[in-house]
Amino acid sequence: MRKCLTVTFLWLWSIMTFAGCAGAGAAFATPPVTPANTATWKPSPAHTPNVLSPVERSSELTTYLIHGDEHTNVAQAQAQLFQEGLRFYLIVVSPQSTGLEADIYQDLVKRNIRATTGPDEGFDTQSVECHPNCVFIYGEAVNALSVASWKNVLRHEQRHMVQAANNPDLAREFRQGTEGLFTTYAAFLEACADDGILVAEEIYHASERMPVLKDALGAENYTTLERACQGIPEAYDRVVKIYEAKKGTGAFVRLFPPYQ
Ligand SMILES: [Zn+2]
Repeated sequence: MRKCLTVTFLWLWSIMTFAGCAGAGAAFATPPVTPANTATWKPSPAHTPNVLSPVERSSELTTYLIHGDEHTNVAQAQAQLFQEGLRFYLIVVSPQSTGLEADIYQDLVKRNIRATTGPDEGFDTQSVECHPNCVFIYGEAVNALSVASWKNVLRHEQRHMVQAANNPDLAREFRQGTEGLFTTYAAFLEACADDGILVAEEIYHASERMPVLKDALGAENYTTLERACQGIPEAYDRVVKIYEAKKGTGAFVRLFPPYQ
């Protein structure tokens, strides 16, 4: 079973629409987002109360939530994005998870992050039925953010879904094994995913690096940059080439250095 997806999201410089497979999904304009600094989060027993009215879940929406509780903040955020036209699977991973989900859970714990689509953390999720439209959520974090903050995190993750759809080798190109460093390609795609959302500014520095890149590329190359941000390898190679032609060999790696 492959659910159908139409994903529309707002880049700073343009709106693009990605159609994942045939089927319905309302196009929408993403509302402005509020920066939410979440990168230094640690697990805490204090849960953020959900003060927003719960969204009534349709039977379709229920199928997009796996191992999760619909009353949690992250599930409410998913429900609100669903109402705006976004379709993706939320998979809550925990100590009870098995197989690939257990591996992803352990990595989320180790790296102290709340959510991943998998490929953006170096895990090949192509065997998972919902690939590339899956978000794996750290079970202890489901209420650690407000609904509004979770929506921003999920919007960031949704951009990785587009990247994964456009590059089957995304997982391998992000990270050389689960113990290796994340690559320059990863640093670039993370900045793209976080551009204008800023849920992990301390790690990905989107607000510093993307303006530098855009300035160097110039408006005439924004379409290429947009395609590169969508994970398209040829467009990425072109962006690196244009940037280094203007800034010198090695400049792109200096702007987007590999990271732990
Ligand atoms: Zn990311």
